[in-house]
Amino acid sequence: MALRLDGRQLAAELENRLRSVISERLERAARPPGLAVLRVGDDPASGVYVANKAKACARVGIHSLVRHLGAATPPAQLLTAIAALNADPAVDGILLQLPLPAGLDESPLLAAIDPAKDADGLHTLNLGRLLKGEPGPRSCTPAGVMALLARHGIDPAGRRAVVVGRSILVGQPMALMLQAADATVSVAHSRTRELAALTRQAEILVVAAGRPRLLGAEHISPGAVVVDVGIHRLEGGLCGDVRFEEVEPLASAITPVPGGVGPMTVTMLLVNTVVSWWKRTEGGDPGPLCQDHPLADLLP
Ligand code: NAP
Repeated sequence: MALRLDGRQLAAELENRLRSVISERLERAARPPGLAVLRVGDDPASGVYVANKAKACARVGIHSLVRHLGAATPPAQLLTAIAALNADPAVDGILLQLPLPAGLDESPLLAAIDPAKDADGLHTLNLGRLLKGEPGPRSCTPAGVMALLARHGIDPAGRRAVVVGRSILVGQPMALMLQAADATVSVAHSRTRELAALTRQAEILVVAAGRPRLLGAEHISPGAVVVDVGIHRLEGGLCGDVRFEEVEPLASAITPVPGGVGPMTVTMLLVNTVVSWWKRTEGGDPGPLCQDHPLADLLP
């Protein structure tokens, strides 16, 4: 029976850590951390995600501010809203909830977010920092995967890792983080031939293809660690990109869906916000966190 990589449990543990970091620092900082979420339009799934993020903020003591603008808001007005959040001294993290309504380009909006307040780690500068191994806010989903692996003593160093998916949101930063942790990494995508032959080489397999139940027993080598990032709402309930019931008997460890990667994504958003708050209320140069900072191990 595979070890369950339980994201809910680890997220709860990390929330405790964040709560104590915030309460210990609050007097010196003179204000709580602040996370602003910019939501555009009325996509119902986005509404649920935004509400979950606001609840998570409340649990750890982050002040959350949701700016909800209509789907027809002109891009210039969205840029003005982002500029106001950049300038707001009480805001340490800014998140643009994706996807945006059809016709709105996310790139110039993401680029307009102050990189120091980039709670999602998706700004070009921060992705470049990840590429170069420089400190900065890290993309939340892959950082959450790295925290889950670390929590269960799974060290990627020297292991063969395969990432299925090459999106900027998940696949690419995931591959960079695994490589930075000394795994030997291959990345598969929709044009990859003989996917199963590649994924069967994986000792660590991260699946972020966005295709319900794409991978099954034939894709897994016995003893592999399997991380399923996919999340899909089908008639029978939630499922991932992996056929869990087929893969679990083969894997040495596996994330459930739900309750695996999803909760960790939200937690890493909180981590990025609290780290930004810490630096911004420190004064002086917002350099890297010192090695013994209570959250330093969470920034891969
Ligand atoms: P995306 O932007 O649609 O990217 C999907 C990637 O998978 C692309 O690189 C695509 O290749 C590749 N792909 C698609 N079909 C494939 C196939 N048959 N074989 C191999 N590769 C294939 O999706 P995303 O934003 O990365 O998200 C991936 C999944 O993770 C989605 O289900 C999403 O809902 C979920 N997600 C979950 C969380 C969480 O917190 N749990 C967070 C973010 C995303 P090409 O590049 O060639 O098109």
